[in-house]
Amino acid sequence: MNVNQSAPPLPPFGQSQPVYPGYHQSSYGGQPGSTAPPTPYGAYNGPVPGYQQTPPPGVSRAQPSSEAPPASTAQAPCGQAAYGQFGQGDVQNGPSSTVQMQRFPGSQPFGSVPLAPVVSQPTVLQPYGPPPTSAQVTAQLAGMQISGAVAPALPPVGLGYGPPTSLASASGSFPNSGLYGSYPQGQAPPLSQAQGHLGAQPPQRSAPPQASSFTSPASGGPRMPSMTGPLLSGQGFGGPSLSQPNHVSSPPPQALPPGTQMTGPPGPPPPMHSSQQPGYQLQQNGSFGPARGPQPNYGSPYPGAPTFGSQPGPPQPLPPKRLDPDAIPSPIQVIEDDRNNRGSEPFVTGVRGQVPPLVTTNFLVKDQGNASPRYIRCTSYNIPCTSDMAKQAQVPLAAVIKPLARLPPEEASPYVVDHGESGPLRCNRCKAYMCPFMQFVEGGRRFQCCFCSCINDVPPQYFQHLDHTGKRVDAYDRPELSLGSYEFLATVDYCKNNKFPSPPAFIFMIDVSYNAIRSGLVRLLCEELKSLLDFLPREGGAEESAIRVGFVTYNKVLHFYNVKSSLAQPQMMVVSDVADMFVPLLDGFLVNVNESRAVITSLLDQIPEMFADTRETETVFAPVIQAGMEALKAAECAGKLFLFHTSLPIAEAPGKLKNRDDRKLINTDKEKTLFQPQTGAYQTLAKECVAQGCCVDLFLFPNQYVDVATLSVVPQLTGGSVYKYACFQVENDQERFLSDLRRDVQKVVGFDAVMRVRTSTGIRAVDFFGAFYMSNTTDVELAGLDGDKTVTVEFKHDDRLNEESGALLQCALLYTSCAGQRRLRIHNLALNCCTQLADLYRNCETDTLINYMAKFAYRGVLNSPVKTVRDTLITQCAQILACYRKNCASPSSAGQLILPECMKLLPVYLNCVLKSDVLQPGAEVTTDDRAYVRQLVTSMDVAETNVFFYPRLLPLTKSPIESATEPPAVRASEERLSNGDIYLLENGLNLFLWVGASVQQGVVQSLFSVSSFSQITSGLSVLPVLDNPLSKKVRGLIDSLRAQRSRYMKLIVVKQEDKLEMLFKHFLVEDKSLSGGASYVDFLCHMHKEIRQLLS
Ligand SMILES: [Zn+2]
Repeated sequence: MNVNQSAPPLPPFGQSQPVYPGYHQSSYGGQPGSTAPPTPYGAYNGPVPGYQQTPPPGVSRAQPSSEAPPASTAQAPCGQAAYGQFGQGDVQNGPSSTVQMQRFPGSQPFGSVPLAPVVSQPTVLQPYGPPPTSAQVTAQLAGMQISGAVAPALPPVGLGYGPPTSLASASGSFPNSGLYGSYPQGQAPPLSQAQGHLGAQPPQRSAPPQASSFTSPASGGPRMPSMTGPLLSGQGFGGPSLSQPNHVSSPPPQALPPGTQMTGPPGPPPPMHSSQQPGYQLQQNGSFGPARGPQPNYGSPYPGAPTFGSQPGPPQPLPPKRLDPDAIPSPIQVIEDDRNNRGSEPFVTGVRGQVPPLVTTNFLVKDQGNASPRYIRCTSYNIPCTSDMAKQAQVPLAAVIKPLARLPPEEASPYVVDHGESGPLRCNRCKAYMCPFMQFVEGGRRFQCCFCSCINDVPPQYFQHLDHTGKRVDAYDRPELSLGSYEFLATVDYCKNNKFPSPPAFIFMIDVSYNAIRSGLVRLLCEELKSLLDFLPREGGAEESAIRVGFVTYNKVLHFYNVKSSLAQPQMMVVSDVADMFVPLLDGFLVNVNESRAVITSLLDQIPEMFADTRETETVFAPVIQAGMEALKAAECAGKLFLFHTSLPIAEAPGKLKNRDDRKLINTDKEKTLFQPQTGAYQTLAKECVAQGCCVDLFLFPNQYVDVATLSVVPQLTGGSVYKYACFQVENDQERFLSDLRRDVQKVVGFDAVMRVRTSTGIRAVDFFGAFYMSNTTDVELAGLDGDKTVTVEFKHDDRLNEESGALLQCALLYTSCAGQRRLRIHNLALNCCTQLADLYRNCETDTLINYMAKFAYRGVLNSPVKTVRDTLITQCAQILACYRKNCASPSSAGQLILPECMKLLPVYLNCVLKSDVLQPGAEVTTDDRAYVRQLVTSMDVAETNVFFYPRLLPLTKSPIESATEPPAVRASEERLSNGDIYLLENGLNLFLWVGASVQQGVVQSLFSVSSFSQITSGLSVLPVLDNPLSKKVRGLIDSLRAQRSRYMKLIVVKQEDKLEMLFKHFLVEDKSLSGGASYVDFLCHMHKEIRQLLS
């Protein structure tokens, strides 16, 4: 027995594993040198159907070519087809009937559809109190000074869980074969590409600067009277007009594209500025960008530089000056720095507690024992040892988990491990799954659980010898012993009713009421489905999808269709007893697409014709979901309902709703009711859906208020998605709708899922945010979970943590795959623990913090007044920063605002959350929009919340046309717009092309094919396809932006000074907003005051 062998064979699993092409059982059998009890079971037996990494390319479809008329702002009610005009109606609750397919008559002869006048209710919002006088504002803003504060250097983070260095060559990188089965039987793979080295730490994020600081030089002095007085909560900042100079006509001198000055090492600012910004500190790593002009009140740390009066001296007669926006932390700069510093090296996960690159940086991940940041991101990777410390810092400890995240093609999907009939190996006490952190002891006969310390016996078939470091010699042959993420095939014990599941089903449920028919939706959808059904999710190399499909249409009654392959024509069954929903047919309702293709095509051809003359305007909603759920129940399978719905369900039926929209409630204690469902019926229904593994995706096409807050309850609780297309018209909106639909139908989904997050002793998961249901305090139940959905989990201490052992998370997701296979996906992550607060602040991730805080706030509005929620966020942010100031920063004057390096964007990002539509709506934002955004954000990942709250603004003509890369972004402020340029702005949901009034005629011609600015159609949503470099580049960029986002962003062309510009300016989040949201500069001043109050 050779227990001393130090170089175990390399893992037989490669780093990339495109399709799981079947690794052979033999890969796991007797490895050379393993003389111990053989491992008889085929751990990797047979071809394991893989996760389909990318959906098959869609068939090419005609794109709309018509130039759309000016888009309405999508908020205005369309003013047509006013429901609510009809009474509750005579509802025929007769017995259900079964009829043969026929042209379906309009069921209710409403002669005409009255138009409802819509009165908008402008709301005056003064959330921060009356605007200060101009004297106050200038005093507040007068010359804040930047200076550096570098926290004392601390030892590097511990290397807790990485395998010993001696094994590094074995673990460094997995051979890139991608094939388990590619090795000859019983042989170790060649030692190729072992270049990775666990001991080698990837570059730490921007090491030297630990803090960013700003000084109010006159603090405590005579110059800043308004800073010394107590600031009433929510009062007193947000300087109005004078703090918003409109620089559109003259581009700011900061013409250097961000990025140019950031590529090099930190250095002095460009000469043209240097003498004018004496407060600029080299340690800032360029993060604050060059100042733009003389800063009269700035102190001067440079010997010989002009002194502007920061030191005691004669009072300065200079005029007060607003805080220079270039002198405060810039998101653009931070993003650029991270890209430059961390974008070139892969992120290797072998080291405990490493902060990953930002979500805005492109990087590859090598799994060496911790889950990729694509699966889990944390607010901090170094958490306080005690709850007292955690309370002091107020930094929320949370993980944003995306268990089924899609990976780039270069990265391997998690390997599937099959432990045969015995199932996955788990700790007997806490039920944690085998993972790289489990400690094998007693020569390998037992293992100690890393989560609860329980000692467990190793089953004979799993026994393996240990090497001289105490590691199992087969550690690198087994994903569950060497990787952060992997899957287990589940045994029947993990299945409902102890029965392996059937493949899931998709049911398409189409509103065929008057509005749906009139807008062209039904015809468009039926036409699309004919081809889209060929692209249902498949697994691995499967020839066809295992998913069965069914079809229902409805208005105030439901029509089920028998599409059995043996039928010559589809058959319709009508169920009008919506109060007691049942499924009138079982056989022939859910079918295989290929087998029933002819009948399905016939049905999809007939549906638009059958209802073409309908006058029925009323719809039901809850009974539709009930019917779909009952159908899945009858078929004993999980699945997804795709609902296409147009109106408030006012027909007499369970779940009937009334129009209760009331904008007068905004800024009152009752505002929360706008976000709450108006009936509990939908929660009850959702619970039944979850029990059945019935996920609901809802596509809404409202012309008016439809009560999204209530209609989205079931999608929200079943892990589904909601899409909303206000005032849908085929010619304007089909591209967006079809694109979303194709993506939604094709995406890989885990069904009937349960997620559990286990933690090592000392912390535990206490709170969860996302689209799911919980019937107890630990299990997150998801009827469906797709690769876009994220669950944010908050942790609290329940004991003291240990610096040496760190803290561990294990997320286990049990789900049914698209092919009906029951699986467990496991993600493990080890974090560091600290006794010094500075370590916490040094290892935070602001983007994740904002994800958590936004979700926390967006849930808070369900129960608390919106103002309370906003104030809570501000207070928490101030406490976080004050704690840093007090405990971590070098001593400095109280007038300095000092921000931890990792959190220097916290104020700007938090301000964006505070002034978002949910927390501070503008007059044009509808109640439905707010409810919609609220539930969208709830399951967003970190990258999505990042761009959603701080949009990207890309100048298009500054960079060379031939440049293939995206142009560097500029800050989201009107000051950054040059009227001689054009810009793209995107936030993941919206996409604008802003055209400056003085753009060169050649540019206008190249992009729009018109001869002057005035001829450009405002609100245009499609750029003409022109054969010139600029047109190609801009259209290519638009396509590329769309491809990066999970939802299709419809383009809106906005001309400078046009009325649509107001809509666009809403997204310039560094500026003061129309709804009263503070500008970044003002908010930073306010935050500074709050912090000083806490410190005094
Ligand atoms: Zn345990």
